[in-house]
Amino acid sequence: MNILVVNAGSSSLKYQLIDMTSESLLAKGLCERIGIEGSNIEQKANGRVYQKTLPLKNHTEAFGALVGALTDPEYGALKDLSLIGAVGHRVVHGAEAFTGSVVIDGAVMKALRDNIPLAPLHNPANIMGIEACRSVMPGVPMVAVFDTAFHQTMPRRAYLYGLPYEYYEKYRIRRYGFHGTSHRYVASRAAALLGKPIERLKLISCHMGNGSSFAAVDGGRSVDTTMGLTPLEGLIMGTRSGDLDPAVIEMLAQTEGISLKDAIGVLNKKSGLLGLSGGLSSDWRDIRAGLQAGDDAAARAAEVFAYRAKKYIGAYIAAMNGCDAILFTAGIGENDGCAREMILKDMDYLGIELDPELNKARGEALISASGSRVKVFVVPTNEELAIARDTLALTGTARARFNTPAIERSFA
Ligand code: AMP
Repeated sequence: MNILVVNAGSSSLKYQLIDMTSESLLAKGLCERIGIEGSNIEQKANGRVYQKTLPLKNHTEAFGALVGALTDPEYGALKDLSLIGAVGHRVVHGAEAFTGSVVIDGAVMKALRDNIPLAPLHNPANIMGIEACRSVMPGVPMVAVFDTAFHQTMPRRAYLYGLPYEYYEKYRIRRYGFHGTSHRYVASRAAALLGKPIERLKLISCHMGNGSSFAAVDGGRSVDTTMGLTPLEGLIMGTRSGDLDPAVIEMLAQTEGISLKDAIGVLNKKSGLLGLSGGLSSDWRDIRAGLQAGDDAAARAAEVFAYRAKKYIGAYIAAMNGCDAILFTAGIGENDGCAREMILKDMDYLGIELDPELNKARGEALISASGSRVKVFVVPTNEELAIARDTLALTGTARARFNTPAIERSFA
């Protein structure tokens, strides 16, 4: 069965078509600038690149373009749409309503809309993507896979903030965490590498990309994570500040004469590596290059980034009372030995020791020294494959459910 995996942003639509018999990638594409001048689609399939600039007024038109690209006789990967068995949608915020992936029906759509206040930037785009997909591919079962779901196992001591409890009761203000699909995938892959059942392992999954989060995974369950109500909390990221004293926001608003919303915008878009490096770059590669060339602004950003990450590893070892393995993934985690070395330096007291030679590895690899009590791995993430696997697992019964007229009607 072929599964289409969709990640809809406000002006973009990323997709992958995966053949689940062999778990191989058939096509990968991206529609950009949806609703903006210069919209375009680019797809790679069978080693050929399909590129078109065409007006895409909305997500439905983008889906039309995606279908055209996938079924293009010369550049496509499919004869016709009937060869897509199901669609898996990445959805950012499932709040407390979703503890796992679900087949999308009317009740799910309502819950997604109810969650918009918790993810005003992401969930509306995800909803548009689902609605557009359904209008272009009616009757094809769809599954929602949530970034937050894996973290729903966190105990309340980890997810509650030290706020008046009524705010949790009234507004569900709490830590939710993100990147759950990646943490879940990487943790299960590490269990296979260690040759042990995940139920017996304490793992720290370090997803470090443009957005970064760590998760403490005890017995296969997320017990803590660095991102919070939104992806702003926790680590230093490309442009996000991560943790800070909340009073900074009021001070910034007052002293700079900006609104609270704009102050939060500074924390989201102008901080992190970009802000700390004095505007040099949000991209770790530039920061590392600057650091290696002796640039102090780059060194400053790298130091704060690595120190914050190191502290969370220590915190999660304490939270789980131990750690069998630390897993590095995503753009920085998978590719940058320098970042991994800066983070894990001087942690031998906790039984963590990198092997400098092994740390040069690319791709899945053990990179800790032979005597290191805690094993360290690079584990490339594959969120799309995880979404496709969930979609396949759930759609055996989905087609029957989705073809029920009552459910079709209730979707709207
Ligand atoms: P992601 O969000 O997972 O795509 O990761 C983006 C981040 O990964 C950016 O900060 C990039 O600088 C970093 N990155 C990507 N490729 C490399 C690489 N080969 N070496 C170091 N950092 C990389």
